[in-house]
Parts: sequence; C-alpha cells; structure tokens
Amino acid sequence: MRALVVDKPEAGQPARAAFRDFSETELPDGDVLLRVTHSTVNYKDGLAVTGKAPVVRRFPMVPGIDLIGVVEESSNPAVKAGDQVVLNGWGVGETHCGAYAPKARVKADWLVPLPAGLSPAEAAAIGTAGYTAMLCVMALERHGLTPDRGPVLVTGAAGGVGSVAIALLSGLGWYVAAGTGRPEEQAYLEGLGAREVVPRDRYAGGPARPLGKEVWAAAVDTVGSKTLAGVLAEIRYGGAVAACGLAQGMDLPSSVAPFILRGVSLLGVDSVMAPRALRLEAWSRLAKELDRARLKAMTTTVGLDEVPRVAEEILAGKVRGRVVVEIG
Ligand code: NAP
Repeated sequence: MRALVVDKPEAGQPARAAFRDFSETELPDGDVLLRVTHSTVNYKDGLAVTGKAPVVRRFPMVPGIDLIGVVEESSNPAVKAGDQVVLNGWGVGETHCGAYAPKARVKADWLVPLPAGLSPAEAAAIGTAGYTAMLCVMALERHGLTPDRGPVLVTGAAGGVGSVAIALLSGLGWYVAAGTGRPEEQAYLEGLGAREVVPRDRYAGGPARPLGKEVWAAAVDTVGSKTLAGVLAEIRYGGAVAACGLAQGMDLPSSVAPFILRGVSLLGVDSVMAPRALRLEAWSRLAKELDRARLKAMTTTVGLDEVPRVAEEILAGKVRGRVVVEIG
C-alpha cells in the first residue's frame, strides 16, 4: 500500500515523511486491523511530517494522529468487523503507526465507536483538535464556570482547536472573544460565533505587569508562552484558563500573582492519554452540541498527496480551521 512514512534518517538529518510502498507486515502489533477512511492534519501532524520537532519516536512511522475507519479484522470481542470507529492520540502517529496509510493495526482499547449522528467525515473534521476543544470546555465547566460569569477568550482562534472551541462555547451561550493574529479572518470567526476579535499582539509580549485589568471570566489557550502569561494576568477573580497548546512556545513567563491574589486556576488539558470515560463523554457531547453548519464552515478536505504541503502550512499558522484528509 502507498503510505506517507517517516523512515529513520541518516545521522544529523531531519526525520521527514515521504511517500513509499508500505507493507502490511511493517504495521505494529495490535488486536484490530482497520481500513482507514479519513484522517486530518493537526499541528502535531505538521511537526511529525516535516520533522521540525521530534514528535516521531519510532521508525518506520506512519504519522497521522487522527484515524477514522472501519474494522476489518479483530481478535478482541469488544469490536467486530464492520464497526465504524474513531481513534485520537494514544501515541498513534508518534510511537505507533497512524492514519496516513490505507490500513492500520491498533489496540481495541484505543477505539471509540463513531458517535451516533456523526458521519465519518464529520468525526474527522472534529478530530483531535475538536475533541481537545471539548475537553477544554468540560474543564472550565468542572471548575464551575458558566456564561453568566463574563466573557471567555479563545487564543489561536482561527486554528483547529480555536475554531471548534469558539463554536462550542458560543453554542453554550458564552460571550466569546477570539484572539487571533489574522484580522482578515474576522468574518470567519464571527460566523463561528465570536462576538469580538482581539488582536494577537495584545498578549504576544507577555503581561506588562503581574496583574492587569480583570477582563475574562475564562479562557481556552492554544498558544502558551507569553500569550498565556498575558491572558492569566487578565483573568477575573476566581476564573480559569484551560491550557492545551504551545503554538507560540512551551515556556510560561508568568508570575504567581494571578493564582495567589485572584484565585485564578490554570487547568491543564491533555487529549493523548485522556481516559476512555472522558473521551466517550467528549465525543457524545460533540455529536449533540457542535453546530454542523459551523463545523462545515471551518473544514477543508484534501487528499493524502496534499498532506506534506498542509503540514508546512499549519506550522506557518496559515491553515484556517480543520483539514480533513480522505484516505483510501
Ligand atoms: P493550528 O490549527 O495550527 O492552530 C494554532 C493557532 O495558533 C494558529 O492558527 C494561530 O491562530 C495561532 N498561532 C500560531 N503561531 C502563533 C504564534 N507564534 N503566536 C501566537 N499565536 C500563534 O493548531 P491546532 O491543531 O489547533 O493546535 C493548537 C495547539 O494546541 C498546538 O500547539 C497543538 O500542539 C496543541 N494541541 C494540544 C492538544 C493536547 O492534547 N493538549 C491537543 C490538540 C492540540 P491565529 O492565526 O488565529 O492567531
């Protein structure tokens, strides 16, 4: 089969993905063989395909952290041939071959049934970015935050996680502000439900002082670094930020002031190793709560051949919303 593969590079060379014939015998162990129908391009896939960060930790590796497919063979009674399934994370596309190939062999425990009411293409459009956005919403809710507490800020708004977060929070009745470096996407962001656009520059240099004006009841941050530090300084008393990303950087040049003087909380969100119960809840809510017209508006569809180009674009911050990859 033809697959996008990262082979072990020569010493000193980057581990870049290239198309080549890939045999089913090269697939790793697992109790389920899948026919892959769709994947997506997330920021992490961009890193894996271009080799710009050491995301791939085993060779040969088929990247692709999102997998939507149909079970072909299973030796686990929990799933059976013909089941439509969704797989996000668990190291797939990093340490276990992923979705940029027509077939994948994986563990049954990693699979979530395709949620009722979602087509395979819609589940792909949601993908890891959308499921992570829902985990962020759930983290804010678990913290007791509700739309009547004030506005919520979403950073990296025109990206995948940001776009889905805006649509979800707006649907739940929040006043949503979209933090973006792309002012030209104002109409797009408003179409998803944003009520206000905040220029990325406001936070790009970090907080001017340990505490700023109290503006946001909550935030979903996909950017990290100085942006997250700047946002923390503007969170209202008792508010929280659900932090899931590092598009600006992995550092966090903040102070303890927001935490000890305003009781602000920083809620970490991880999708890769999230327990199954949380995944099932997130996917069930996505199927019920995410507006399909907004999902469509944020989605572009490409073929597997276009993944290397899209991988470069997503790292350059040029991809808007979600990119679905049709496989097979
Ligand atoms: P994406 O589509 O590339 O979105 C990232 C967005 O961040 C960009 O569209 C851009 O939005 C903004 N951005 C990019 N570079 C920036 C910079 N230097 N400074 C400030 N803003 C910048 O990526 P994604 O798939 O949505 O993922 C977003 C982040 O979440 C990534 O860091 C990813 O690794 C992380 N993530 C984590 C988890 C988890 O489990 N914790 C799961 C999924 C994703 P604007 O153009 O609107 O400014």
